[in-house]
Amino acid sequence: MKVLIVYAHPEPQSFNGAMYRQAIESLQHAGHEVRVADLTGQQFDPVSGRHNFRTLNEPDFFKQQLEELHASRTGGFAAEIAAEQEKLEWCDIMIWQFPLWWFSVPAILKGWVDRVFAMGRIYGAGRLYANGTFKGKRALLSVTMGGAAADYIDGGLNGELAGILRPLHRGILEFTGFTVLEPQVVYGPARLDEQARRTELQRWHERLLQLENEQGIEVGRYR
Ligand code: FAD
Repeated sequence: MKVLIVYAHPEPQSFNGAMYRQAIESLQHAGHEVRVADLTGQQFDPVSGRHNFRTLNEPDFFKQQLEELHASRTGGFAAEIAAEQEKLEWCDIMIWQFPLWWFSVPAILKGWVDRVFAMGRIYGAGRLYANGTFKGKRALLSVTMGGAAADYIDGGLNGELAGILRPLHRGILEFTGFTVLEPQVVYGPARLDEQARRTELQRWHERLLQLENEQGIEVGRYR
């Protein structure tokens, strides 16, 4: 199995860093091929703009999706964007490892999507949802948060996690054809003791060993 891990955390010694390294180790141990997008490590620029492209079709009025269509036809994406698109196209499974920031992904990961998931190459002309480009591929969000599990349920302080993750699950992953797997969630790693954090890493390891056999979830249920 070919696995792409997209990792977004500014500190390698963080718990997210530990989850990321655990994933690489466990998946390789299970015999899978792993490629990564370590967004901080590779200093990925998350701000979308004219520099997404080698040349512009309409330099006087920049309209991103039209330039994306043009670049898809002409091979006109900037090298750093084309490299990420190739990783996406290569993988069977994509995992995102990130801390929940403001009920969403860190900006560096949102910017990766804004720039890399281009119209023409990645979606469009009827290629979306069930007919999406990445039909047959699976995706998994591995997320940590400051809040406790009790904060992320119906009637809890923040409401159901399913609703918070829905824009990612439905608006990005399913939109481009991925089948969504159950998210891997670690609530409040900073408040856990060392042993409990190790238990979380072990739980992740065990899941990764059998990832090949996992079925998707109903995102509709995740409202
Ligand atoms: P860390 O604090 O880096 O790690 C926790 C502990 O694990 C540390 O003591 C670390 O040393 C230890 N550790 C590292 N490696 C290992 C290892 N191998 N074994 C055992 N222990 C290890 N939270 C919410 O709930 N909702 C929000 O909307 C939200 N928005 C945020 C917005 C911003 C901008 C920021 C900065 C934070 C926000 N948070 C929010 C909190 C954030 O989600 C958590 O702080 C984050 O998920 C915790 O993960 P971490 O990897 O940063 O933990």
